[in-house]
Amino acid sequence: MSDCQRELFGIRIDALEMDQAIFRLLEWAREPADRCRYVVTPNVDHTVLLRDNELLQSAYDEADLVLADGHPIVWASRLLGQPVPERVPGSDLVPRLFSAVEPNRELRVFLLGAAPGVARRAARNMAETWPQVKTVGVYSPPPGFENSEDECELILGRIALCRPDVLIVGLGAPKQECWVYRHRTQIRASVALCVGATIDFLAGEKCRAPLWMQRAGVEWLHRMCSEPRRMVKRYARDAWVFPQLVMQQWMDDHSQNPSRQ
Ligand code: UDP
Repeated sequence: MSDCQRELFGIRIDALEMDQAIFRLLEWAREPADRCRYVVTPNVDHTVLLRDNELLQSAYDEADLVLADGHPIVWASRLLGQPVPERVPGSDLVPRLFSAVEPNRELRVFLLGAAPGVARRAARNMAETWPQVKTVGVYSPPPGFENSEDECELILGRIALCRPDVLIVGLGAPKQECWVYRHRTQIRASVALCVGATIDFLAGEKCRAPLWMQRAGVEWLHRMCSEPRRMVKRYARDAWVFPQLVMQQWMDDHSQNPSRQ
């Protein structure tokens, strides 16, 4: 593990600030590579899902960049003596990356995910805000696509035709991480970002929490109020399990190194 990496709840996390992550992504987006590099952004829910999902664990192990998405991850990292500098949520990373593209350069982007029509709206908004970002393709896969080899081939073919620098994958967790991991050698993009509802946010389909809520670390409350049926059960489970994961790691660290007590 390098100096810039932390090990929390069995996840290797890159301790990077937003600007450092963007710098690295721009470099990767412009480098020819023999396989698609990919980025995951752990939040509390991912740390909970990882315990029972081997494929997601492998996707995390192999990821090229692992950026702390949620405030609780950052708080826990400090509590456990393995601090990450700040949260780098996927839904902020993408617009910040687009803004960082120099006016005389072009970034080719493919949007994969979200409901039919949403990615097209996102592409229209992106063209207005970031003229240097060119959406070269969009696709909303049908339900269950991940279990169909034909459908996966079709998606890979579409991406290969468009040759994007960056593939934005908004399929929700753990589907997006597992799909990218399974197909990482076939995805003809320089870098893939697994970023949940980001395409919805870019399209204006869903609204981010107000800034004060994001800063106070209660963005989850906003999401729970906007999608209560889907979120209440998830957050209840996460609120029960996550403190146990933090406690477990704290005890493991202190049993291995009693001098930290
Ligand atoms: N989604 C999709 N295909 C699927 C499942 C989900 O395109 O098979 C999209 C959905 O339309 C939404 C996003 O994935 O745009 C879900 O993002 P969210 O951040 O809510 O996912 P989470 O990781 O929080 O479950």
